[in-house]
Amino acid sequence: MDELRIRGLRVFAHHGVYEEETRLGQTFVVNATLFLSTRQGGLTDNLEDTVSYAEVCQFLTDYLQAHTWKLLEAAAEHTCRALLLRYPLLRGAELELAKPSAPIPLPFDSVSVCISRSWHRAFLGLGSNLGDKKAYLDGAVDGLRRNPDIRVKAVSAYRTTKPYGGVAQEDFLNAAAEIETLLPPHELLDALHRLEQTAGRERLVHWGPRTLDLDILFYDDLVQDDADLTIPHPDLQNRRFVLEPMAELAPNLVHPVLRQTMGQLLDSLPGEG
Ligand code: ADP
Ligand code: MG
Repeated sequence: MDELRIRGLRVFAHHGVYEEETRLGQTFVVNATLFLSTRQGGLTDNLEDTVSYAEVCQFLTDYLQAHTWKLLEAAAEHTCRALLLRYPLLRGAELELAKPSAPIPLPFDSVSVCISRSWHRAFLGLGSNLGDKKAYLDGAVDGLRRNPDIRVKAVSAYRTTKPYGGVAQEDFLNAAAEIETLLPPHELLDALHRLEQTAGRERLVHWGPRTLDLDILFYDDLVQDDADLTIPHPDLQNRRFVLEPMAELAPNLVHPVLRQTMGQLLDSLPGEG
């Protein structure tokens, strides 16, 4: 990925743990690396096709001066997020925030916090089999759209499917969604759980009826197996109601463990299921 680099931007601001720091202020030094494709701007020679570093410098200055945080960690976290939300061409950013005049009674040059944040591409599974199922799926998509850390790129058709897992219950309505998100996997799962709770889901029977079920199917090429989060979703290759909408959204997406595309996984499912 191409980079746009800003080095040594000095910003007078009021971040710090000590009262004098927030009252008197001090100079912070910002280094930023912006990840984006400069190809379009390179070809057209047009400022509109890239991100203006002058504008970014002004944005960073205004943002750091408009807020007060105790920790460099918090200042960097919020500023980096604001930057990525403000400039849609950015895929990611690295931000270093240094405090050359930090209150440390020892000889030193500078202390800094440096973080990297970026948009991640994820696919979600959506399902409902209680009440107004379409309204629950619509509500989930709306809820995703209202979250500033999530951009909904595509939503598959809604499909009616037979229940799975051997518990007698109503048919399901299922779909998949492609999103981009600034949230790490567990925070994304928390956001999905909040949407499930808003939909009044009760977890009574495993695989039993639910107003809304939201699963993370894929998150970039990530492979992880935590106690409460497995990515890719461990059972997706066996579920027609996941593979059909996935094959609609991304037929050539390759499962990072099974090394087969969504189309191939769908074609190798046995019979109707
Ligand atoms: P299921 O979706 O398998 O029918 P639930 O929605 O009740 O069942 O999920 C139960 C738990 O599964 C969640 O609380 C979550 O911690 C865990 N889980 C593990 N991996 C994932 C994933 N990829 N997406 C969503 N939940 C997951
Ligand atoms: Mg679930």
